[in-house]
Amino acid sequence: MNAAHHHASKLSRNQGQVLSALRQAKEPLSAYAILDRVRVAGISHPPTVYRALNELIQLGMVHRLQSRSAFVACDHGACNGKAAFAICRQCEKVVEISLSDKDERVLLALSPKTIAAEQITLEIAGLCEACRPAKAT
Ligand SMILES: [Zn+2]
Ligand SMILES: [Zn+2]
Repeated sequence: MNAAHHHASKLSRNQGQVLSALRQAKEPLSAYAILDRVRVAGISHPPTVYRALNELIQLGMVHRLQSRSAFVACDHGACNGKAAFAICRQCEKVVEISLSDKDERVLLALSPKTIAAEQITLEIAGLCEACRPAKAT
């Protein structure tokens, strides 16, 4: 958490508002859902939200979930973006999975020769503990 606080102190007001909206949410938020939550703080233009989101993504403090065009705050405060996500398809709980350099190499190596791999998006869908039906046994 120290790293996160260190970063947080350098954030602009808009970045701080967007980040705290994401941290308070229990689920991934679309840009418009974020806009709804920061309106009370006087932020009312979508481009303002998008700009803050892009800057937070560059800082590794926010990640984009490609499969649902939504955003989540980094579980670790901030990271290098080498992350995968497990997402509960029922309640949308998201757990961030850190990828090691080796994980990344292995995944990039899956790309065929015809496509020069640059970046990975890995999202695992499933059911979280709370959403799994109780076992009959
Ligand atoms: Zn992260
Ligand atoms: Zn769930």
